[in-house]
Amino acid sequence: MASISAVKGMNDILPKDVWRWHHIERVFQDVAATYGFREVRTPIVEPTQLFLRSIGEATDIVEKEMYSFVDKGDDALTIRPEGTASAVRAYIEHSVHADEPISKWYYLGPMFRRERPARGRYRQFYQAGVEVFGDAGPFVDAEVIALAVRILEKLGIQDIEVLLNSLGTGDTKARYREKLLTYLTPFSESLSPDSKRRLGTNPLRVLDSKIEKDREICQNAPRLHDVLTDEDRAHFDSVKNVLTRLGIRFREDANLVRGLDYYSRTLFEIQGRGGELGAQNALCGGGRYDGLMRELGGQDLPSIGFAMGLERLLLAMGESKEPQSMDVALVVEPGNAESDLRLDAAAFADSLRALGLRVESDLRGQSLKSQFRRADRIGAAFVVLFAGNEWKSGRVKVKDLAAHAEQEFELSLVPQHLLEKIAGKK
Ligand code: AMP
Repeated sequence: MASISAVKGMNDILPKDVWRWHHIERVFQDVAATYGFREVRTPIVEPTQLFLRSIGEATDIVEKEMYSFVDKGDDALTIRPEGTASAVRAYIEHSVHADEPISKWYYLGPMFRRERPARGRYRQFYQAGVEVFGDAGPFVDAEVIALAVRILEKLGIQDIEVLLNSLGTGDTKARYREKLLTYLTPFSESLSPDSKRRLGTNPLRVLDSKIEKDREICQNAPRLHDVLTDEDRAHFDSVKNVLTRLGIRFREDANLVRGLDYYSRTLFEIQGRGGELGAQNALCGGGRYDGLMRELGGQDLPSIGFAMGLERLLLAMGESKEPQSMDVALVVEPGNAESDLRLDAAAFADSLRALGLRVESDLRGQSLKSQFRRADRIGAAFVVLFAGNEWKSGRVKVKDLAAHAEQEFELSLVPQHLLEKIAGKK
């Protein structure tokens, strides 16, 4: 019978690789905690309406990429393409604002978009993101960008560029939209089919186009900065000042628009250039979305957030060796299956695990040679050898595999010895 493969663009992460994910998640959580962020977990499936109203109907995600379906109870549902809409929904639904004026949340988990799969672009991918509710900035804007940069630094991703833009508030964006439309309409026949279509639905997205001809046309387009209000401009200037004071380098990019409708004022993207990243070099994207809470039926609360893609972080980090994963391998002289030797070894393994040590024991009665080979392969730091003769006098051998050193101990002294040695190696 033909075997069944995973869905295109959706990947298995096998145990031999999953430590990389754990590492990134731990760094993300640790650094986010130093800024006062706490985790939120929301459902992976949401009402389709949530994404239509937040991301915007004239966006790639909503037009082409959502995994939407009608369930058996006739509810229109979507497997989440991003995390912000769910976080905002949960914030409103649980009236969190009543308990705390400012909330700092983070989330981790899979997102789903039916994009064309490529290196660094998948249909199921993992995001780690943060949201701050209730603070209009500009200090918090810079702090959120700094948090993203510090996470990347902690992961060893050095070769990055922070792109920064301000979209102004809703009114500014509306005025700019009109100006842009007036400029772009005479070029509509020369624009790519996608940009031509966007002209009618979401002209700001034309600025985002990667097509050379579109980019040429956009070069002389009116600048959003020229229509920013004094307040928008002051806000943007302050964000830049704080970033500079924090030592965060950035480049202003007036064409940075990003794909989602809900952004206002500060907008940023962090691109990577190192490791195995290819064309999909956006590691992290985020910005302020002051109107979204109200749009989704909540209070008029300013908010800002970002999301980073874990697969792309991994590509940017490049290869690294798995850290020691096993503390101890027990090697037991083969003999009769239920010998006291093996029973003692099984009980000993259990007692070491109770102390928090990671212990592998192969009690199938394999040859000593194959048990030692396995100890090597699983990356054990120590081997404890249960051999008939020593065991009869209550003793075992402990081998430090990295140091090629061997010592004989009374069995009762071994746990303490291992605990000290392993603490010393960490
Ligand atoms: P967005 O939610 O579109 O603002 O994207 C935020 C980040 O998520 C990007 O900078 C990428 O790192 C990551 N990302 C977005 N889409 C994908 C995808 N299809 N595959 C892998 N990573 C993605």
